[in-house]
Amino acid sequence: MKFRIWTTLFLVTIAQVAWGQTSTNRKLVNAEATSPEPSVNSYTVLGATSDQETLVRAQIRIMQPDVYPLRVLFVSHWKYVDTARTFRLHVPAGYTSAMFTHLPSRSVFIDSDRYVSDDSLGYWIAHELGHLAANSASENAADKAAREYRKRLKDARKPDVR
Ligand SMILES: [Zn+2]
Repeated sequence: MKFRIWTTLFLVTIAQVAWGQTSTNRKLVNAEATSPEPSVNSYTVLGATSDQETLVRAQIRIMQPDVYPLRVLFVSHWKYVDTARTFRLHVPAGYTSAMFTHLPSRSVFIDSDRYVSDDSLGYWIAHELGHLAANSASENAADKAAREYRKRLKDARKPDVR
């Protein structure tokens, strides 16, 4: 029963994000966008296993992005594709194809069925955080901003830094 409630809440949240074009939801998005900068732990992680959530939060903490996401959503592949289509996002094959960012709602979507490894997760999250930092859908702008985040991730992995 608990699981069912959680699932429903999750789907409602997805729906709010995915169909954010209605007036009430647009207000919600605007309210969030103008609220004080979310910091290290004030964003939500949805749909992740506890290991994934711990990992994502740790990686984002290390990267210290200029702009934090409001939410990070792990979704099934069909939902991922469906959501991308709803946002009319072009998700180029083989390029950031396991995640994308919806800038107006500062939501990062991760295709949980294509979750490859911890390292690649951090690598691509850096790219998505780059989109947020640059506030741009441009892949070049995102990669440019991601460079510093990837460097921080790499430095954190060096044994002598710990
Ligand atoms: Zn991108």
